[in-house]
Amino acid sequence: MSRVLLNAENQITNAYRKNVHEAVDVVKKWYQADTVIAHSDGEVILVQTGKKHNPGSTGNESYGNFIKIKHNDGYYTLYAHLKEVYVKKNQKVSRGEKIGYMGDTGNAYGVHLHFEVRNKSDKRIDPEPYLDADLPKEERKILYQAYDNVKKYWLPNVAVGDGDYAGNFGNAIGGIYLDQYRMRVHDMKKGYWLLWVENRNDYAGNLGNDIDGVQIYNVTYRVHLKNGGWLPWVSKVDDTNDGYAGIYGKAIDAIEIK
Ligand SMILES: [Zn+2]
Repeated sequence: MSRVLLNAENQITNAYRKNVHEAVDVVKKWYQADTVIAHSDGEVILVQTGKKHNPGSTGNESYGNFIKIKHNDGYYTLYAHLKEVYVKKNQKVSRGEKIGYMGDTGNAYGVHLHFEVRNKSDKRIDPEPYLDADLPKEERKILYQAYDNVKKYWLPNVAVGDGDYAGNFGNAIGGIYLDQYRMRVHDMKKGYWLLWVENRNDYAGNLGNDIDGVQIYNVTYRVHLKNGGWLPWVSKVDDTNDGYAGIYGKAIDAIEIK
């Protein structure tokens, strides 16, 4: 069943990908349009209407007609590309209430619902687990860990933002595992950047080869040098070598993400 479509099961046409498509696109089974319903109880805090199909548009324009609802637990849901909007700003809505009809307004490649879930900080999270389930009560922590090249094992998990770091000072690290974020590392021995890692089941690194550079999208992080201290925090990253943490030729023994 579905918590966002009235009549049918969701069919996902475009999944969530961190920094690429932070939503899920759904249609009714067999690629049909359907009435859109409120995922949970809440209050409509934003409505945009009067928009048409507008390929290539950006920002809020790209959403076309959309509705954003704030839920009682502090989470938000957003429903975009609607053909029709049945609710008004500041209106209270109940779970399952009809709020609009699926369309292709804004930057849409076809008729579908672009559905977002945002956490209490209004940051987009993966909506797929909630297509047919309640929004989370507690936010799931994002974990990371480092591989100790001297002891030759993965060090314990650390949660992003906990003020802790992954690593053993004095022992270079050869791999970083990070749930959800896009990242890559620079292999000191090989002297080049390894492939970007986007799969949450994969890690960045060649275990056993020291790392001397780290790039992670969309977070603020810093690294600690094996024979030095913490380098400055880094937050800006693009596909060039700009915005990495590390110094080529100097092994990293710890990483902290906030
Ligand atoms: Zn979408």
